[in-house]
Order: sequence, then C-alpha cells, then structure tokens
Amino acid sequence: CGIFGVSAPRMSSVLEDLYLGLYALQHRGQESAGIAWLDGKGNLELQKGMGLVHACLNQEELAKERTKCAIGHVRYSTAGESNIINAQPLHATYSKGQIAVAHNGNITNARALKRDLESRGAIFQSTTDTEVILHLMAHEQSLSPIDALVKSLSKLRGAFSIIAIIEGRLVAARDPWGFRPLVIGKRDDVYYVASESCALDIVNADFVRDVAPGEIVIIEEGKLESLNMPVKAERHFRCSFEYVYLARPDSVIDDKSVYDVRFKLGQRLACTCPCSEGELVLGMPDSGTIGALGYASKSKLPFEMAVVKNRYVGRTFIQPTQRVRSLGVQIKLNPIKGLIKGKSIVVVDDSIVRGTTSKMAVKFLRDAGAMRVHLRIASPPVKFPCLYGIDTPTSSDLAAAKMDVEALRDYVGADSLCFLDVSDLVCSVGLPEEELCTACFSGLYLKE
Ligand code: 5GP
Ligand code: SF4
Ligand code: MG
Repeated sequence: CGIFGVSAPRMSSVLEDLYLGLYALQHRGQESAGIAWLDGKGNLELQKGMGLVHACLNQEELAKERTKCAIGHVRYSTAGESNIINAQPLHATYSKGQIAVAHNGNITNARALKRDLESRGAIFQSTTDTEVILHLMAHEQSLSPIDALVKSLSKLRGAFSIIAIIEGRLVAARDPWGFRPLVIGKRDDVYYVASESCALDIVNADFVRDVAPGEIVIIEEGKLESLNMPVKAERHFRCSFEYVYLARPDSVIDDKSVYDVRFKLGQRLACTCPCSEGELVLGMPDSGTIGALGYASKSKLPFEMAVVKNRYVGRTFIQPTQRVRSLGVQIKLNPIKGLIKGKSIVVVDDSIVRGTTSKMAVKFLRDAGAMRVHLRIASPPVKFPCLYGIDTPTSSDLAAAKMDVEALRDYVGADSLCFLDVSDLVCSVGLPEEELCTACFSGLYLKE
C-alpha cells in the first residue's frame, strides 16, 4: 500500500496535493484509494472507492476544498479481502473524538490481538489488520488519544508505516524494525508525509528526512514533534524487496536511491552470472529495465528496449486471480521481432515470484525468433512468503520454493538461468546486513 498525509498551519487547498501524492504512489496499490480530511468545523470528511486514484477520487471537487490536515491511502490487500469496507483510511468516533488512520504493512500479531479485543466486546467492521489499531486505542480510556496511539502501537508486531489524523493533528509512525519506508517533506510551512519520496517531488516539497524506525512524528501548526515508541527493536528490518521491485526508481529510501540499487544489482549480476554468448541485453519492462542497464554497462553488451510494455496495464501481481495474472503478461508485453531475431539474448528481470512472467517471456522471445534466451534475475530466488506487507504468495505458489534453479530453468524454458546471492543483494543495497530484511529470499524472519 501507499500512504500520504499533509498538514498545513492554515486552512488551505492542499487536498489536490493529496490527490497528486496518491497518484505518484499508485504503483503501491491499485485496488482501492481513499482520503480523509478535516473540514472547517473539525469534522472528518471521507472519500473512498475501489480502483485507481483517478476513478475513486474527484480531483475537481478536492481542489475546491480547504483543510489543515488530510491523509490518503492506496491499497493492495495483504490482509483482508479486496472490498470497499476494507478500503482505507479507516475512521472512527470514540469517546475521545474522531480518528482516521491509513496503514502500509502487515501486523503479524493482528489475529491474536483481534481475538483478545473481541473477547472484551469489540465488534470489528472490516477484515483488515489495521482496524486493530482503532480498537486498541478505544480500550485506553484513561489516556489521551496520542498516548493511546503510542501504547497501542507498542503492542503491534510486524510491519506498520502509519499516518493518522488524531485531535486535528497529523501523526506518522514507523514500526521499530523500519520494514516499510516513510518520509517527511516540506514546502514552505506545509508538511507532508509519504511512503516514498517520489510523492514529495510531485507536490514540489523538499525532502526533509525519513521517519526513523520506532519514531512517532506529530505535526501541527507547522511544527513537528518527535516521540520514540517504548518498544526498541534489536535490529532493523528494512524491506530489501522495496529496492528490488516495489518502490519507484525515482524514490530514495533510507538514504539509498532505488535507481542506484537496481543498477548495482544489474552490474553485480553481470559479474556473478556472465553470459559469454550473449549478443544483446534486454530488461523485462518496467521492473527489469534498470537491472538490465546495469548488466549491459558491466558486461559491455548492447542494451535494447526490445520488449515493449503496454503502459495501461497494471502490475501483474496486483491482479487477484491466476487467470488474469497470466493473461496480464500477454496483454502487457510485446517483443520487437527485428531486434531479437536470430540473436542470443540476455533477459534481465528483477525477480521471479510465480514464474509466470519468465515463462511467458521465454516463449514470446523464442516465437519472435530469438536463437537463445538466457535469463538473469537481479535478486535471489524468492523462496519464502513475505509476512510483512508484500503480497508474495504462499510457498506453494512460489516457483523457487518448489524447484531448484535447474528445474526452474527447465520450467520457464530458458537456455540458462542465474540468480544473485543474498550477499550480493545486501551489498548492492548498501545498508548493513543487520538492518535489512531478506526473509523472502533467505528465510530469516524477524524473531519474536
Ligand atoms: P512472476 O511472474 O514470476 O510471478 O513475477 C514477475 C514479476 O512481477 C516480477 O517483476 C515480480 O517482481 C513481480 N511480481 C509478480 N507477482 C508478484 C507478487 O505476488 N508479489 C510481488 N511482490 N511481486 C510480484
Ligand atoms: Fe520485504 Fe521480503 Fe522482508 Fe517481505 S520478506 S519485508 S518482501 S524483504
Ligand atoms: Mg516485472
């Protein structure tokens, strides 16, 4: 999911910024979009719907509205079904006032917390893990809403980057492990909080800094206050798959440019998985393109945009069924026969999840006349499900969990197949190993 929030010292027309910010985060979720904002009387207003930002939200109407504080969300489901009840921001009115919250991540102990809350009388409206936060807050009757939030967040395990409207203030928090990104930006005296820095660029805000793992930021009247969550993590667990695939290449996460990381992954791949008979490097658009550029630069092979993507088709993995997913690849990608015919081709992709894209790619490249197809993957094999908010499937659908590299090569039909090692991934990201989550590649999950 993607989240975006804004806080202005005066009533301003910042809802259009929110719209634009969510638009820039569309790649993080395409199932639903929504926003919540405070009107002139301090009441929460909401707009949400199923589908893409431009279909769910009315830009013209939003441009006319004025507010001091607003948050928004784009969703793809990792916990709970894909329906309007689960669309965020979630909002509630409780004894201490109104709250709205938007969440990116996956709370790993949500089920246990929910069971406990239900046994104490809570009635859940949605099936998202996010709703747990609202109920936990409501059960802290003796605390102020902000203190209730701090206490509630400290009971959560797993991944949560959160923005909320509480007592008219914009609140942002990042879990103590730092799984999902979250950044702060500023334009004049207006503050923004966003999943990725690319959303700050579109509203012309300067990047201020990342929200630190375990930090809670409260913004009001152009002032920013920072608190620490009482829970300290033994180590950080920033998601390496954000760099590999999920984030936009024009974003900078925890001081590392996503573009640079992808380029380095490709360069490293050229060193560890060279291809002596390769004549041409191409990347599977869009996620494999930068890795392919890195591979080509290091291997001194020519790079061509030899597969063209229909840019009106969304990310394959966000389509909820296997049938649409596999059709999706065909709808999405088409090779340029003249560039490919008779050649030995090095195909770089960012990752293999179900193996659908690779299998189809090898087939359409051969159909287009490729002599040989050598597949190079700019990440290690995805062998384990993500528990922290990326929609990787269960092990039974993960191609690399079921097959070793040779069996997988045979399955996708490539002449050769080669992956990066986890250590290559860690080096390319450039963060210390003990700050990075590689669980879907390495099986090393957070110990709880
Ligand atoms: P595949 O076809 O092997 O499942 O995936 C190929 C491409 O889509 C890769 O670029 C991969 O990063 C992305 N992808 C496909 N399915 C998923 C998924 O379920 N989760 C994630 N995170 N990425 C996926
Ligand atoms: Fe990211 Fe993989 Fe860790 Fe999930 S398991 S948080 S996708 S690195
Ligand atoms: Mg891809």
